[in-house]
Amino acid sequence: MRETIEQQLFSVDEIAQRVQELGQQLSLDYAQLDPLVVVVLKGSAVFASDLIRHMPISLQVDYIGTSSYGDDTQSSGQVRIVKDIEVNLLGRHVLIVEDIVDTGLTLQYLLATLGLREPASLKICALLDKPSRRRAEVPVDYVGFSIDDHFVIGYGLDYASRYRQLPFIGVLKLEEE
Ligand code: 5GP
Repeated sequence: MRETIEQQLFSVDEIAQRVQELGQQLSLDYAQLDPLVVVVLKGSAVFASDLIRHMPISLQVDYIGTSSYGDDTQSSGQVRIVKDIEVNLLGRHVLIVEDIVDTGLTLQYLLATLGLREPASLKICALLDKPSRRRAEVPVDYVGFSIDDHFVIGYGLDYASRYRQLPFIGVLKLEEE
């Protein structure tokens, strides 16, 4: 397969502006709640590290690892936790930070699994949303950008563990050689 970055969807400046806005909104909404920010590895790491630096409030950060994609651009539909969080969720205001909501299966699983641990609240902040691909209805409380059905890379998002370091978000095109 030949991989080409077909187009730039969001520039460095557009991303920075939107992430700052999200951080400001979250800081207002969670000001008194000492939230636990749960970062979904690996794709959300870049987004989350920028986002929390726009949240000058009391908070904790932990990381959870899920797996549903191999080196493919299609979801397997199977979600599993490959690295669990270490902080107790009981009575906490939990904010899940996700890079992109596609079918919604990952977040549906995380909401169900983390919900069993009796947090005071459980909300989702996603940088990108692909509503046309949804297979499971999940409430996405905070969204950076809604996009059409593209496979996107950059700003933490990968294809076969590549392209995460790109500072912009682009559309990846795969062609037979
Ligand atoms: P879902 O379970 O909602 O189908 O997919 C969630 C995960 O699939 C995301 O966290 C992300 O890792 C991966 N994913 C979905 N769409 C894309 C995409 O367009 N680009 C990349 N790089 N990953 C995606």
